[in-house]
Amino acid sequence: MSDLLDKRQFYIDGAWADPAAARDLEVIDPSTEEAVAVISLGDQADTDRAVAAAKRAFPEWSATPPAKRLAVVEKVLKVYESRIEDMARAISLEMGAPQDMSLNSQAAAGTSHIQNFIDAFREFEFVRPLGPHAPNSVTTWEPVGVVGLITPWNWPMNQVTLKVIPAILAGNTCVLKPSEIAPLSSHLFAEIMDEAGVPAGVFNLVNGDGMGVGSQLSTHPDVEMISFTGSTRAGIAITKAAADSLKKVVLELGGKGANIVFADADAKAVARGAAHCFNNTGQSCNAPTRMLVERSVYDAAVETAARVATETAVATAHQPGRHIGPVVSKAQWDKIQDLIQQGIDEGARLVAGGTGLPEGVNRGYFVRPTVFADVSNDMTIAQQEIFGPVLSIIPFDTEEEAVRIANDTPYGLTNYVQSQDGARRNRVARQLRSGMVEMNGESRGAGSAFGGVKMSGRAREGGVMGLEEFMDSKAVSAWDNDA
Ligand code: NAD
Repeated sequence: MSDLLDKRQFYIDGAWADPAAARDLEVIDPSTEEAVAVISLGDQADTDRAVAAAKRAFPEWSATPPAKRLAVVEKVLKVYESRIEDMARAISLEMGAPQDMSLNSQAAAGTSHIQNFIDAFREFEFVRPLGPHAPNSVTTWEPVGVVGLITPWNWPMNQVTLKVIPAILAGNTCVLKPSEIAPLSSHLFAEIMDEAGVPAGVFNLVNGDGMGVGSQLSTHPDVEMISFTGSTRAGIAITKAAADSLKKVVLELGGKGANIVFADADAKAVARGAAHCFNNTGQSCNAPTRMLVERSVYDAAVETAARVATETAVATAHQPGRHIGPVVSKAQWDKIQDLIQQGIDEGARLVAGGTGLPEGVNRGYFVRPTVFADVSNDMTIAQQEIFGPVLSIIPFDTEEEAVRIANDTPYGLTNYVQSQDGARRNRVARQLRSGMVEMNGESRGAGSAFGGVKMSGRAREGGVMGLEEFMDSKAVSAWDNDA
């Protein structure tokens, strides 16, 4: 126990605080299966203290001029950048992202989100005219109040910065409850907020599990809004828990993205799609996990995807290189194994990977990069979010059929289209029922909104819409435009 990092304290009202009651939880390094740190699971008294601190800080912070709030966040960015290597190490340790990827993607996502919010906030219009028909009517944008932020383990700083930064820029005060499985990065984030001089009570951190601090925040009478990223299961539970106090609830949930590869796709489309599916060991809600391939190029696509899987190296997070790491936990490893077995049992053709540990590995939660061909969209592996490096390939004959298969899922987060025909790309993009469509391997522009439809939740995170998400609009008449 003595070798473990002690991260038992919470960050409340601008200071580190002991938990009200001792309830330890060990943080496990998924590369080694060894405990590396210990945190506390908070209880009602801790949640109450944090919410009370946020409530006390709200009047002053919400009345602080936007330029001053911006200056605080600019300082946060500076400190975050100075601690980026520590951040990458914390993420590697808690959830298994390989060190180079952790630095260049996981930790770096935090930097770019903070920067993008700074840019969006500089241009943000807090008072907007309604239109020429009503020259003295305006819409103003106001902070919501105390907001509860609940985040998952798979892209920890990506999700924390997508919530904390717009929340406080908008003038809210907040309580963050990160994933209890990957809490080390958020502990460091609290140190960064402290060093940056964020005023006491504006940002608070309480660790805990979903049933404890998660539901305490979702039901708390003084919390006005919950912003949640995680599973659809928990999103539904939070929505129900928040109903009695009629909170604003914003949800970023799971996905089962389709990647539609037409015969005229560019030469790298299939390899790029497979690699994208395996990135972060398949633990991304927007992963393109169903590859829909036009029949005339289907056999070649299966061969290419299988080759990419076979060539994808799997190794510990604590070594350099472009390999993928373990999945986050034993529970996730078991779930992924069951789903791979179900794919086999339901008759999909396994062309790479499969159940069990990769060759030569005997500890760590490592999964073999796996590709199934001849998947039909009603199979379990095509319907359920696997959250591991498992790709399902499905053939199609016509554009209509591709769109129908892509939309035949409870989820609607990100879909992908690969074609050289611009008119077709536009047509298909409009028909896909998802919050995002990425085409021909081009990333969405900085500040575009991240979010979904259907069972993926309907949040919009990032950029101007991501700031508006943390505000209420107010319709005002008889506005004096000259005052
Ligand atoms: P999870 O839902 O189990 O946990 C996420 C967070 O919610 C954790 O902090 C957890 O403690 C908390 N929680 C769990 N049950 C709760 C409850 N009843 N009330 C309040 N809080 C509760 O998810 P996870 O396993 O950590 O993350 C993986 C899931 O998140 C996947 O389904 C993935 O697709 C989804 N995800 C979605 C997005 C997105 O932006 N749409 C991004 C990342 C992950």
